[in-house]
Amino acid sequence: MKDSDCIFCKIAGGDIPCTKLLEDDAAIAFLDIGPLAEGHVLLIPKHHYVTVDQMPPDVAAAVLKHLPALGRAVQSAVGCEGFNILQNNGPVAHQVVGHVHFHIIPRNSGDEFRFNWPAGLYPKGRIEQLAEAIRKELATRNL
Ligand code: AMP
Ligand code: ZN
Repeated sequence: MKDSDCIFCKIAGGDIPCTKLLEDDAAIAFLDIGPLAEGHVLLIPKHHYVTVDQMPPDVAAAVLKHLPALGRAVQSAVGCEGFNILQNNGPVAHQVVGHVHFHIIPRNSGDEFRFNWPAGLYPKGRIEQLAEAIRKELATRNL
């Protein structure tokens, strides 16, 4: 599965260059050209899925299995204190490239990367209601 207009499909297919870190049948990882920090990595499936919920479980597993090693390698190579895994789905969630990708973003105390984390509180009974609705959805799907 490939989208001829998709920049990450072109990278996965070798049609445009990238600074490659690893590659196998399912996935490829490379350095982001607009890094939020030095060593900012992108991990993508080779096949074209727009958002993570479109990925079959076996493909997701084959791609995500690389995260622990990439996290260790980036931390050691750039000497950061920690890292964020970020994965945006849909323009409202700041997805610009419509091909699933996982950001590995090195973090250091006092760095410039910020996100707002507006933690709320559930009114009484709402958390159980939501859990029930989500469980019902899960039960009707092939997992
Ligand atoms: P997102 O906002 O999650 O869609 O992020 C897309 C990311 O892809 C951005 O961080 C871009 O800097 C990065 N990007 C776009 N084109 C390329 C490219 N040709 N090679 C490497 N990274 C890219
Ligand atoms: Zn694509």
